[in-house]
Amino acid sequence: MACRHRRSYTGGPGRLSRRLPVLHETVTSPARSPRIVVVGSSNTDMVVRVSSLPRPGETVIGGTFFTAHGGKGANQAVAAARAGGTVALIACLGDDSLGDETLAALAAEGVDVGGVRRAAGTRSGVALIFVDQRGENSIAVAPGANALLAPEHVAPGAALLSPRDVLLTQLETPLESVLAAVRAASDADAQVILNPAPARDLPDELLALVSVLTPNEAEAVRLAGVSVDGEHGLEDAAMALLRRGARAVVITLGAAGAYVATAEHRETIPGHRVEARDTTGAGDVFNGALAVALAERMPLRDAVHFANAAAAISVTRDGAQPASPRRAEILALLEGDQLPLDDAGRATQSFQSTEHAERHA
Ligand code: ADP
Repeated sequence: MACRHRRSYTGGPGRLSRRLPVLHETVTSPARSPRIVVVGSSNTDMVVRVSSLPRPGETVIGGTFFTAHGGKGANQAVAAARAGGTVALIACLGDDSLGDETLAALAAEGVDVGGVRRAAGTRSGVALIFVDQRGENSIAVAPGANALLAPEHVAPGAALLSPRDVLLTQLETPLESVLAAVRAASDADAQVILNPAPARDLPDELLALVSVLTPNEAEAVRLAGVSVDGEHGLEDAAMALLRRGARAVVITLGAAGAYVATAEHRETIPGHRVEARDTTGAGDVFNGALAVALAERMPLRDAVHFANAAAAISVTRDGAQPASPRRAEILALLEGDQLPLDDAGRATQSFQSTEHAERHA
């Protein structure tokens, strides 16, 4: 029964203060770090840059090759870790060398990989990507071990979450495992963020357990079954998704930012103006940062503002995972100020001094 888990959104729409006092408190708070469990996919992207995309039967010579760690689950876990979260990933890799490399890279990012399974005799997920000079691409994905992520692998980790924590998941792993994770997190009273990507139909039971649903425009259209055309279209889509049970809907709008809707409140939180270079993975960075902000109990609008900033920085850089900004960079953009960073990308001075002075004057 879906309503058993229904509770109001914990953060609620707050007033977006220019200087984000909630953020300042959490930046400087000695309390334990927020905990985020990401359940999702991990792939290795194998990319060949070519002058033109090969047609069927054609061989295109002269390209350059590189690999990158990818998959929505891994991308979002890395984005959340860099944004300051304490992050664990529950995923499934093969027992091949790509799996070894991925695991080492995630651990180097500070992601807890204790919940990453290795499936014997199975290949890790791979995306084969051609990119031409105009940035057009053509992609084939072999999910490999991602397809073996089963409910029994995800539920124990999700059940360890406390009400302070956040489950973040997407749709690149089997729907039964997404549902199992969401049920367990919801039973534990943790907040649940579902990034419904790639788009597919979803049962109402799942949507009714979601605290914050984060489609992009195309995914919102598909899920809500309405056309998104201007603010009314967005509102129609968001309302339809709220009616289906999500407690809050955040539709990402590319450079325009994100549209936020709850039962009580609707508005567009504008994006940050940057010179975009590569928007790959912008949604993943947005979701990772949003999870961190919500785990820190930022009001939803402030959390979306924080996520917009993280994602805006990421589009100024190449790739997905490597483009994820560190927390101090996000804070610096929010402040319109460049903070000095240490080697770990942490701010060597906090915003507390001025903020405290203002608040306690
Ligand atoms: P997806 O990558 O899933 O398709 P979007 O394109 O909506 O999602 O982008 C996700 C978020 O990334 C946006 O809500 C916004 O915060 C940020 N973003 C994307 N493109 C830009 C851009 N050109 N300039 C600034 N921010 C951007």
